[in-house]
Amino acid sequence: MIIDNSASSSNKKLLDFDVKSLTANRRAINVLKGIFAVLPITFALPVDALQVKVTPTNPKLGDTLSVEINRDNPDNSTNPTVASGNNTYPAFEIAPNQYRALIPTTPLEKAGTRTLRVTGDGQVRNLAVNVLNRKFPVQRITLPPGKAGVGATEHELKRVAAFKALQTPEKYWNGVFLKPNAGRISTTYGVRRYYNGTFAKDYYHRGLDYAGAAGSSVIAPASGRIALVGRVSQGFRVHGNVVGIDHGQGVTSIFMHLSRINVKEGDFVKAGQLIGTVGSTGASTGPHLHWGLYVNGQSVDPTPWRTKTVN
Ligand SMILES: [Zn+2]
Repeated sequence: MIIDNSASSSNKKLLDFDVKSLTANRRAINVLKGIFAVLPITFALPVDALQVKVTPTNPKLGDTLSVEINRDNPDNSTNPTVASGNNTYPAFEIAPNQYRALIPTTPLEKAGTRTLRVTGDGQVRNLAVNVLNRKFPVQRITLPPGKAGVGATEHELKRVAAFKALQTPEKYWNGVFLKPNAGRISTTYGVRRYYNGTFAKDYYHRGLDYAGAAGSSVIAPASGRIALVGRVSQGFRVHGNVVGIDHGQGVTSIFMHLSRINVKEGDFVKAGQLIGTVGSTGASTGPHLHWGLYVNGQSVDPTPWRTKTVN
C-alpha cells in the first residue's frame, strides 16, 4: 500500500531554515575574519562547521539526494561520509575541498523527514531533509495457478548484485543523461503491483521501459565503463542479454532484454555510443528496453537525471 504521509510544511521550513542559517553563519564568519584581519590582536576563531547543501530542495520519493560538502581543512585526507538510516554513503571529491554523496530514495520508503548525518574533519552535522510523497501507478496482474514465471539463476543474481554494488571513486558521467532508445516510454518508474489481488510490497518497477522496435539502437545515456555483460546462454534467464555501465561514484545503469550486444566488459563508452539493440530476451513478453538507474545499489527514478545535471 502506498502510505499517505503528506509532507508537513513545518518540516520544509526546518530544512530551509537550516540551509539559510548555514549560509548566514558562513557569511558572518567571513565578515568576522575580515574584521580580525585588520586588528593587531589575534583571537581564537571558532572552528568552521562543515558546509553542507542538499539538492533538490523539494525532493520526492524516487529522487536522488545530492549532498555537497565543503570543508576548510585541506590537510585532512579522509573523505567525508553521509549516513541515512542504517546506511553510510561515501562522499567523493568533485572539486578541491568539495565533496558530494548521492543518497537514493525509493517507493519502498516512507515520505517525511529523514536525518542525514554528515561526518568529516572530526565534526558531525545532522540535517533534516523532508522527502515528499508521490503516487505511483498500480498494476493488477493475474497469473494462472502454477505460473509464477522463470526464476533467476544464482550466477545471474550474483553478477548483477556485484555490479549494482560498485562505488568507483572516479566520475565518468558529464551533464544530463540521454535517452537510451528512441521509442516512447511504455512503463514509468516506480509502478507498484498486485498479483492475484495480493499487494507485492517489495516490488516496484525499477527503471523505465522504452517501447523501441526489435533491433532498434540502445545507446549509453552517459559515459562509463562496461562492468557487466551477461547472456541468456550464461544463465541470465530473467535479465536476458544484459549490459551494465558503471558511471562512477556509485551510479550504475543496467539495460535488459537486448537482442544484440555491441560492447565487452572493460570497454569505456561515451554518451551516445551504441551498446546493443532492443530485444525480448529473458523474462519479457515483447520487444522493449528496460533501463534501470542505480545509486549506491538502489533503483532511483532516471527521469530527473534526464533533465537536470548532477555534477
Ligand atoms: Zn521494465
